[in-house]
Amino acid sequence: QGKREGRGTCRVFEDSMDAELRERAALEAELREAIESGKIEPFYQPVVSLPQRDCVGLEVLARWRHPTRGLLGPDQFIPIAEETGMIADLSYHLLRQACLDARSWPSHLLLAINIAPQQFQDRDLAQRILAILAETGLSPHRLEVEITESALVRDLEAARATLTSLQNLGVRIALDDFGTGYSSLYHLRELKFDKLKIDRSYVDTITMSAERAKLVDAIIKLGSSLGLVTTAEGIETDASVDWLSDQGCDFGQGYLFGKPMPKEDVAQMLRAGPMPDLTGIPSLLESR
Ligand code: C2E
Ligand code: MG
Ligand code: MG
Ligand code: MG
Repeated sequence: QGKREGRGTCRVFEDSMDAELRERAALEAELREAIESGKIEPFYQPVVSLPQRDCVGLEVLARWRHPTRGLLGPDQFIPIAEETGMIADLSYHLLRQACLDARSWPSHLLLAINIAPQQFQDRDLAQRILAILAETGLSPHRLEVEITESALVRDLEAARATLTSLQNLGVRIALDDFGTGYSSLYHLRELKFDKLKIDRSYVDTITMSAERAKLVDAIIKLGSSLGLVTTAEGIETDASVDWLSDQGCDFGQGYLFGKPMPKEDVAQMLRAGPMPDLTGIPSLLESR
């Protein structure tokens, strides 16, 4: 209690703390309800091949259609879900929904899903994911799990066990946001990934800064020399596509190719888009 400050100041401070806590508690309760009633929705952002720009897959990005606050992005609720232990339920709900949606897409398209570091504390994570694949009828070969290095820092052995059981059944593992946070060559040495996703903060600046460009080039070369494919995140310009393709980057993702969109828009994109590949048509007819 700051006695030297006027009583008024102190009360204003406490009131605003109060308001913040109440706001946060309300949001938490609403989030719990939204997860339970399936109101967190998967949006999908296309991943394309470079330089052809053919759609090769879609990444699931969580959105919350909030009744009064509008369409909320993951930054506004994923941290709350992580802190309160709701992330697993949210994540399994999204995965189930996304697998169902992906079954109606051409079968060469991969589905990529983000898994939070906290989820690796669950020893049954791999079993839970595989159970959802079995239940929805999506082949493990069509799923890619995206993790960040913070998932590996707490318990590398647990993460290794989970990732290995997923990979043994054909699920691919991508290292997301590479170049940020805990990035370390140690993780590349200790675990076998299938893909490196180069963080948007690097891709942003390649055409502006020669130093950044050198770093991105080195990451692409590092990836390919380790037998990993590389995806550049956050591509917004044609100049970036040209440069990244020249350096040998395999895939790209960014507003230039498509923003995260609801499943109705994916269906429309797949119908309309430059998708001469007809091998997917039979999968549209499959019921399972
Ligand atoms: P991320 O996995 O690295 O996803 C890429 C983010 O970059 C997405 O933001 C996407 O909308 C944004 N982005 C893509 N292309 C561009 C571009 O060209 N320009 C710009 N400015 N941004 C671009 P979003 O949807 O806000 O997601 C943010 C992060 O939230 C994701 O980063 C991911 O780490 C996390 N996240 C999203 N959905 C889930 C989820 O279901 N579970 C978990 N655990 N995390 C999720
Ligand atoms: Mg991701
Ligand atoms: Mg990323
Ligand atoms: Mg990111």
